[in-house]
Amino acid sequence: MRPSQFCNNIIISSLIHTNTHSQIPGVIVTTKHTYEIAYKYAWACINANCAVVIKRHSRSVDVNKQCCGRCKGKLVEIEAPTPGISSLSSNNGQVRRGVGHTPKKKAAPSAYNLFIKANSKKVKERLTQQRLAEGNTSKVPQGDVMKECARLWKEQKSKM
Ligand SMILES: [Zn+2]
Repeated sequence: MRPSQFCNNIIISSLIHTNTHSQIPGVIVTTKHTYEIAYKYAWACINANCAVVIKRHSRSVDVNKQCCGRCKGKLVEIEAPTPGISSLSSNNGQVRRGVGHTPKKKAAPSAYNLFIKANSKKVKERLTQQRLAEGNTSKVPQGDVMKECARLWKEQKSKM
């Protein structure tokens, strides 16, 4: 690959092919056939205002070398959208772009998740003690534990 191609060679390909079949004499076609080709790999521009999605049959995009052809934004590999899904999820004919992409790699646990992990046991014990003090010997519902964890998390965040 020539270095000069970097950052310029992502072609935003239109993946929606529309056939009206209007060239067939005597046949009036009232509906457009829209279909998408199934691509195995996809990349999305992380610029929320751009949200270009690039689809390829092979993993031919190197996010470290290539960037969005429209805004030069960083690209991130996403799960290739399943054909048909995008049209199903469209609202009032508008296909939502840049939202709902599934990141390809499993995201690292968020700080919140780590906080839950570190504190849920303690919280559960504390809630159990509280309930016992009130004469309630039933088990603390997991929902209550999570609620308390969320409250603690908010509390901690507000201190930071
Ligand atoms: Zn872009």
